[in-house]
Amino acid sequence: MAILKVVKYPDPILKKKCLPVSEFDLTLSRLLDDMLETMYADNGMGLAANQIGVSQRIFIMDENPTEPNPLFFINPEIVFESEEWVDESEGCLSFPGITVNIKRPQKVVVKAFDREGLEFLCERENYAARCLLHEYDHLEGITFFDRLSVLKRKMYEKKLLKYRQSTM
Ligand SMILES: [Zn+2]
Repeated sequence: MAILKVVKYPDPILKKKCLPVSEFDLTLSRLLDDMLETMYADNGMGLAANQIGVSQRIFIMDENPTEPNPLFFINPEIVFESEEWVDESEGCLSFPGITVNIKRPQKVVVKAFDREGLEFLCERENYAARCLLHEYDHLEGITFFDRLSVLKRKMYEKKLLKYRQSTM
């Protein structure tokens, strides 16, 4: 296993739609292990493959990293979104130093394949649903900045720049 470098905004790979996974092989298994180690090292709750430079439809999530229980989502699809939406803040490992308020469905059901290639359904509410939708967006080449108004985006871009300068 290895801790990989997390791609930071505005790297163009974050804008690119990811391609489906076709082989459930050792390469995939290794990639998933590396993603997991990278996510834990950065204290993230979710991580998409393109955030470590691999443009494939894969993301991982762990709702409780103190007692690891990772979930692997390969070729995921959103099969249900609630009509009720909530406005909450969220972070992203590709945008260190800032959190952004985004409106998202309160509940979601995602269908995906696990690391063994078996299909499963995952139903989540509130913050975990938010995480699933955030990671799914990554696979579509969408970051939370794309969900902001131009004005808000400019404001957060300034914050991001400030944070980067403070950590240089
Ligand atoms: Zn993210």
